Amino acid sequence: MVKKQDYWAQKIAIISRIWPGILILIFLAAGCTPPASRISPTASPESSPTSGLILTPAEDPFLQARLEMVKSTIESRGVNDPNVLRAMRIVPRHLFVPPNQTSLAYEDHPLPIGYGQTISQPYIVAWMTELLDLKEGDKVLEIGTGSGYQAAVLAELGYGEVYSIEIIPELAETASKRLKELGYDNVQTKQGDGYYGWKEHAPYDAIIVTAAPDHLPSPLVAQLTEDGRIVIPIGPVGFFQTLWKFENVNGELEAQNLGGVAFVPLTGAGVESGSSAPTP
Ligand code: SAM
Repeated sequence: MVKKQDYWAQKIAIISRIWPGILILIFLAAGCTPPASRISPTASPESSPTSGLILTPAEDPFLQARLEMVKSTIESRGVNDPNVLRAMRIVPRHLFVPPNQTSLAYEDHPLPIGYGQTISQPYIVAWMTELLDLKEGDKVLEIGTGSGYQAAVLAELGYGEVYSIEIIPELAETASKRLKELGYDNVQTKQGDGYYGWKEHAPYDAIIVTAAPDHLPSPLVAQLTEDGRIVIPIGPVGFFQTLWKFENVNGELEAQNLGGVAFVPLTGAGVESGSSAPTP
C-alpha cells in the first residue's frame, strides 16, 4: 500500500515529468495566434489584415485616431476603394514617423523623417494608391521608399509583390528593417537611384513615384506592362507640381492631369541627365 505522503510525492514527480510536454502542447495550440507584434482581433468589421498586423484599442492607443483620420480626411474627400480604405485603417502610421512626431501621426499632413525628407500626407498616399487601379496579382514599383509607409499600404492591399527604391542609404536601411519587423514580407526594398527603375523585376503593372522629377523618366515607362500605369508628380524643384497618371493603352501612353501637388524633388544623377521625352 502506498502511503498518502508517497502517493502525492509520486503524483508531483509524474506531473513534473510531463509538464514540459503539456507546455509544448499549449504552445502548439497557440500557434494559430499571431506573434506579439501581429496581434489579431479586428479593428473594424471589414478589416482582415494582409500583414497580420492589426491591433486592438488596448494594444494600439492610436487606433481610434487612425479610424477617425480615414473617415474625416480620406473617405470624406472621395477615396472610396474599400481595399485602400481598409489598408489605411490598418497600417500604423505612428510607427513610420520619428518618435518626436508620434502624436502628430494621424493629422493629415506630411511629417519630417530626417535627411530633409518627409512621409507623405495620408490623403495623398490613399489617393495615389487608389489611382494605381491595382488588382489581384499586380506587381508594383515605388520610387522613394522614405519611411516605408506607402510601401506598407501597397503591401497591405495584398494584391502582389511590392518593390521600393530609396536613394538615401540611411532611410533605405531603416525602412527596410521597419517593414520586415512589421511583417510586410511581400515588400522588397533596395537603395539606389529610382530614376532607372528596377529592371530585374520588370515589367510592373503599376509604378508610383513619391518624389517629383521635372520630366517623366523614360526608364520607368519602359518597365511598364502593356496596360501598366504610372502615378507621378512632375514639375520644377521648389514649386508646386502636377500629379499625372499615365496609362499604357494599345501601345500609346495616355496622360491624365490630376491637379496641383507639392512633393520633395526626385534627386540623383538619373533625373539630372535624363531626357525630357515624353514629358507632358
Ligand atoms: N513614400 C514615402 C513614405 O511613405 O514615407 C515618402 C516619400 S518622400 C515624399 C520622397 C522620397 O523619395 C525621399 O525619401 C527621397 O529621399 C526619395 N528620393 C528622391 N529621389 C530619389 C531617387 N532618385 N530614387 C529613389 N528615391 C528618391
